[in-house]
Amino acid sequence: MQSPQVNKEPSTKALEDQLLEVNGLKTNFYIGKGKVVQAVDDVSFSIRKGETVALVGESGSGKSITSLSIIRLIPSPPGKIVEGSIRLEGKELLTLSEDEMCKVRGNDIGMIFQEPMTSLDPVFTIGNQIAESLMKHKKLKKSAAYKEAIELLKIVGFARAEEVIKEYPHQLSGGMRQRVMIAIAMSCNPKLLIADEPTTALDVTVQAQILNLMVEMKDKFQSSILLITHDMGVVAEVADRVLVMYGGQIVEEAPVRDLFIDTMHPYTTALLKSIPNIDVDLKRLDSILGTAPPAHDFPRGCRFAARCKHVMEKCLEENPTLVEIKPNHKVRCHLYEHQGGLYSE
Ligand code: SF4
Repeated sequence: MQSPQVNKEPSTKALEDQLLEVNGLKTNFYIGKGKVVQAVDDVSFSIRKGETVALVGESGSGKSITSLSIIRLIPSPPGKIVEGSIRLEGKELLTLSEDEMCKVRGNDIGMIFQEPMTSLDPVFTIGNQIAESLMKHKKLKKSAAYKEAIELLKIVGFARAEEVIKEYPHQLSGGMRQRVMIAIAMSCNPKLLIADEPTTALDVTVQAQILNLMVEMKDKFQSSILLITHDMGVVAEVADRVLVMYGGQIVEEAPVRDLFIDTMHPYTTALLKSIPNIDVDLKRLDSILGTAPPAHDFPRGCRFAARCKHVMEKCLEENPTLVEIKPNHKVRCHLYEHQGGLYSE
């Protein structure tokens, strides 16, 4: 990959417990006829050691491209990280060679995707696939790798691990395959686990099991999690902190409790109103009117303006910046510029 423009200044907020720091990340897609899709536009956030951070938003908001940028798996061309910095424990990832980055993936960062069947190879046994990861990243001999694979399968809840190791992906259910993916992702004790919609393809009854398992594994291996999801129920369940994305930008960032109790951005409010609430007797759930603007043709002003019921003249002229309204709670919205977070529905 051609090296992107990297912010030269070391981050001043590089605290001891900081694991990942993303600063001013911009990822574009060049789709021909001079069109540029600004999939990720000036995104900055950090993840502390042991923390679970949820990145939420509708499809097309830029959350998956943000995670793919972190692990440098943006299809290029047409995609390209054009600006920014991604540091893992202070090490800049955007200037690493592909070989060095390959070691980071697997050793330092584990990944789980929505559909495990696309990540598992149908022609190899489960044991083969876990052992391969262990031999590659931990340099284990084949017999030791198989032994450890059995242990990992037991840790992720397979009672009959010795048999599962000889089976092929199609012989397992969706939930079991996702357990295998978690075993592979955790096989090298990664510092960061990136989970992109890990429960979306699963039955509701299995979703909670997989989420609990991820959190258990995070605690056991002392990792951090970046959880990409569109499901606010999942966020409430497992996240410590939440980043809400819209139109390729972060529009709100807050500790999970704060986000649900003192919601600030009109988009986050709309997102929360569109999920069922057991305490509220609603005939119909709210939906967010309209559609997100195309990423190759963002409006000049606020990207949520066309769907926002609080839109003002200024919103059409000027895209607001992300501002910290109260400790650890940031929002990108003109409503807060003078009133310090007094807006309520
Ligand atoms: Fe709505 Fe304006 Fe805030 Fe955008 S800046 S979310 S349009 S009030």
